[in-house]
Amino acid sequence: MNQTSKIINQAKKEGRKALLEPEAKTICMEYGIPVTKFKVALNVNEAAKYADEIGYPIVLKIVSPDIIHKSDAGGVVVNLKNPAEVADAYKKILENVKKYKSDAKIVGVLVQEMAPQSTEVIVGAIKDPQFGQTVMFGLGGIFVEILKDVNFRIAPLTTDDAKEMITQLKAYPLLQGYRNTPPADIDALVAILCSTSRLVMDNPEIKELDLNPVMAYQKGAKTVDARIILE
Ligand code: ADP
Ligand code: MG
Repeated sequence: MNQTSKIINQAKKEGRKALLEPEAKTICMEYGIPVTKFKVALNVNEAAKYADEIGYPIVLKIVSPDIIHKSDAGGVVVNLKNPAEVADAYKKILENVKKYKSDAKIVGVLVQEMAPQSTEVIVGAIKDPQFGQTVMFGLGGIFVEILKDVNFRIAPLTTDDAKEMITQLKAYPLLQGYRNTPPADIDALVAILCSTSRLVMDNPEIKELDLNPVMAYQKGAKTVDARIILE
């Protein structure tokens, strides 16, 4: 059996609707969607060891089925530069999460590669009751939240659909490069949209998918956070 079905079946068995970030990213990897390197640490020593293997700077995040929005819980610390900072952040995250939700079940702490800053985009999918699996694309931050500058297409997507979803955004010129920002790799984003379409078409029990943010680079792109919700 493939990893995706294994992960989805395990979550169902445990009665969990929200997949953990490492689970969602493992599924992304199986579909060829680029994600940050990551490993789940169960103690401080493991965190330091994994940080070494992955390479600094490092990001630590809480892994808990009870914490969906990790930064709200103080569960994300970015830009850690050495083992001492990793150890401090590890303890701080557990402390923050305990304060936020004292009975939260803690699976571990996610140690991951820090993706260089760039233009942030959002890839999403929702299962529409009428149209079925639908894929969404937009730029991060104010573009989605305030300007609602996003495009939807019903899956499965063709390459042309995916390209249109990107180029028809009002904010598309930002992806073409401006001032000191180089143009983004549109083909890499098209590939992520098409893979996301395959992912949700193959797995109809996925109700929502959220890759937020995806860093868009001059060459390639990288998913920094992934969320998958099951029906
Ligand atoms: P949340 O569950 O709160 O959405 P995220 O994993 O999205 O948590 O982390 C919050 C923010 O921290 C992200 O929007 C991004 O700006 C930054 N961030 C998280 N992980 C990374 C990473 N690996 N590299 C760079 N920035 C990151
Ligand atoms: Mg996020």
